[in-house]
Amino acid sequence: MNHQSYYTSVKRILIIVLVLNIGVALAKIIYGYWTNSLSIISDGFHSLFDGTSNVIGIIGITIASRPPDKIHTYGHEKFETFASLGIAFLLFITCFEILQSAVGRFYHPEIPDITILSFLIMGITLIINLVVSWYENREGEKLKSTILVADARHTRSDVYVSIAVILGFIAIQMGFSIVDPIIAVIIAVLIAKMGIQIIKSSSSILLDTAPLDEETIRSIVNKVPEVKECHRIRSRGPPSHIFVDLHVTLESSSSLSKAHEVAHIVEDKLKSSIPEIEDVVVHVEGESDNF
Ligand SMILES: [Zn+2]
Ligand SMILES: [Zn+2]
Ligand SMILES: [Zn+2]
Repeated sequence: MNHQSYYTSVKRILIIVLVLNIGVALAKIIYGYWTNSLSIISDGFHSLFDGTSNVIGIIGITIASRPPDKIHTYGHEKFETFASLGIAFLLFITCFEILQSAVGRFYHPEIPDITILSFLIMGITLIINLVVSWYENREGEKLKSTILVADARHTRSDVYVSIAVILGFIAIQMGFSIVDPIIAVIIAVLIAKMGIQIIKSSSSILLDTAPLDEETIRSIVNKVPEVKECHRIRSRGPPSHIFVDLHVTLESSSSLSKAHEVAHIVEDKLKSSIPEIEDVVVHVEGESDNF
């Protein structure tokens, strides 16, 4: 997929998700004011805050899509990965909030004013969030976009929160108030795990973990008949924008222009076999050279 259409697709998905999030938030806030239910109003503002994750994603993607410039000569792709860390940070805030409110409810148990309609609202928004996180994750895996996968995890964390709230209410109403904080701790651990997963995968990209296996690259390059052998194979970058460099050995008698031509064939072959490859730098050497 080419550079610009990748960023256009990722951005479009993030905007769709943001619009859905704002829609869900407004539905809750309007319904909350209409029925004078404080808990639904505050839940609505919480959903509005969830849009922050999408906004971080949109900003990250906008910067990442910029062409290389004088100070970022390899391009800005890693801004997408860096922005994913911001989403992980939001997940940790969510964790803290869940635990904090569970402790509050434990010491001051209050039965919220639950009606059939408020259950219905929670149920509908829960289903919307489930569908959104499934869609976002599927597109993220397809596009190999770190920010979409991270944002999908964030959306899924909202699903967990809603489930925790519903189960907590049921537990409190049945008289088992101890179950509510236990559920909260389990949910907080699940969300913290998602945050750690995002930090792990993002930092591995930021720290230049090789996205491609050496053998994969070698087997493609060896298909070029003029190439005798290749070595010092390196790759780095996010899975959607990979940079490769390598040494290839040619017949010692090859002319400079032949060597240049082969270097371009190697580059094109790699790019067409693995579309995620953004750039290839080929160092050519003769068979009898020993350095
Ligand atoms: Zn720049
Ligand atoms: Zn070499
Ligand atoms: Zn050239």
